Amino acid sequence: MRIKFQQLPEQNLKPLFEDSNTLGFCKYFTDYMFTMNYTEEDGWHSPTIKPFTSFEVAPSSLVLHYAQEIFEGLKAFKGVDGKIRLFRPDMNAKRFNRSAERLCMPNFLENDFLESIHALVYTEQRWIPSNKGTALYIRPFMFATDETLGVRASSAYTYCLILSPVGPYYQEGFNPVSLFVSSDFTRAGKGGLGEAKTGANYAASLLAGKMARQQGCAQVLWLDGAEHRFIEEVGAMNIFFVFDEKTLVTPVLNGSILPGVTRDSVLKLGESLGYKVVERQISIDEVIGGITTGSITEVFGTGTAASISPVGSLKYLDADYIVNSRKVGPVSQNLYDNLLKIQYGEIPEPFPGWTVELEGPEDKALSI
Ligand SMILES: *Cc1c(COP(=O)(O)O)cnc(C)c1O
Repeated sequence: MRIKFQQLPEQNLKPLFEDSNTLGFCKYFTDYMFTMNYTEEDGWHSPTIKPFTSFEVAPSSLVLHYAQEIFEGLKAFKGVDGKIRLFRPDMNAKRFNRSAERLCMPNFLENDFLESIHALVYTEQRWIPSNKGTALYIRPFMFATDETLGVRASSAYTYCLILSPVGPYYQEGFNPVSLFVSSDFTRAGKGGLGEAKTGANYAASLLAGKMARQQGCAQVLWLDGAEHRFIEEVGAMNIFFVFDEKTLVTPVLNGSILPGVTRDSVLKLGESLGYKVVERQISIDEVIGGITTGSITEVFGTGTAASISPVGSLKYLDADYIVNSRKVGPVSQNLYDNLLKIQYGEIPEPFPGWTVELEGPEDKALSI
């Protein structure tokens, strides 16, 4: 891929953040973005790294009316050895294409997707914070640009990549979150978009999220759309239940659950650390029973933003169920510690391809 680079004069670059501990999550964006366009005649073309600016979008653009949009989320970490690493980026490339297929969008060469990430992160390396827990968040996305109000798949698309330096998710150590179990709303149903990483799923979740916050909960724990009986996920995180401090149970991927990279990593890492890991259907009744009797010793969410997010309580049908006295359990802590050590290069990758060192233009045939 020959990438065109529209370089800014040095004096026009933004000042760097002063304290990476107060960056928060995706409040600041770097100097450049990567874009590439698709048309039926030319396929994907014009890969460009250009200054981070607004798009010009026609009021009749399909994406604004019918939500044909997908995205991804991953991070670049600066290791203890100064090397920059991506975590399992091939998983994001594959998932991006599966999401594209579900939303009738064009396929992306896995290599082009990865190259766009390497090239932009390489260009923007000064933005990668270096203390542990911080990272450069990478947001690839694609949207429909045909100008029509006819309901159909677009014939033209824009792919874009933006970067944001992010602070440690846990400022003062782990803070277990409260989840609101929604017994009336659903995030995704059988045959719907649940498996695809698309903005439409997030739009569907906003009202329940607002109600959760009114009830003092941080996020929603979704149940299945048909019966409101089986656990699905948290909307931006997958969910795990720890039984007797040794067995990890997570809902089996059923078509309406997003297949998280962190979920998959915890299943593999958990097994290698000696836990029993099980993917199966699990009902809210079993979860409430397990928390009440104490057989469920921990609950945690998994996602790129927080990696492991301990859950301190569930609110279901107006009752609060406290998990592990709202404290961080040993299993969550162990998984979190190991995952971070891998991502920051403190221990070798336990499986091939889990950490990918950043490649500059001289390492790869990137001609910026
Ligand atoms: C992105 C996302 C997750 C977490 O996936 P990771 O690949 O682990 O970051 C979980 N659920 C939904 C709905 C998501 O969009």
